[in-house]
Amino acid sequence: MKNHETTLILVKPDAVEEGLTGEVLHRLEKNGLKILNCRMLRLDGPLLKEHYAHLAHLPFFPEIEKFMSSGPVVAAALAGENAIAKVRDLLGPTDSTKAPKGTIRGDLGKDKMHNVLHASDSAETAQAELRRFFGSTDPKV
Ligand code: ADP
Repeated sequence: MKNHETTLILVKPDAVEEGLTGEVLHRLEKNGLKILNCRMLRLDGPLLKEHYAHLAHLPFFPEIEKFMSSGPVVAAALAGENAIAKVRDLLGPTDSTKAPKGTIRGDLGKDKMHNVLHASDSAETAQAELRRFFGSTDPKV
């Protein structure tokens, strides 16, 4: 397969609570992404500070921490051709209100913060995030 990649997603707490996990995984699977591994966990302070280190200086960071630790998330490692860019394309931009219809955020998201899913945005972050949540960059079961 050309440019086979593995990426990391987190279904955010409100989407898990609202029963959107299946819909999200279905959309990704039908677009050629294969689930290599999947787990449910609660994000605590230190893990969130590491995961969102690039936002730690922003005024709304405490709100992100509160939101992302408000309930369990579903983490999955997804593999496929150009998986990193493909998942970001299917997801749409950060602000759900500006995301096009047909994208996950455009169809299922609420606003800038409540936007359904986190997905790795580069090869470097995918490797770091797969290690963070699954302990390996190739977390086959
Ligand atoms: P993305 O998740 O699209 O990669 P970022 O890495 O910039 O976006 O931001 C991480 C998360 O922080 C977003 O998914 C969203 O939940 C939250 N966030 C980002 N920017 C804002 C904002 N301006 N207001 C509220 N929440 C935000």
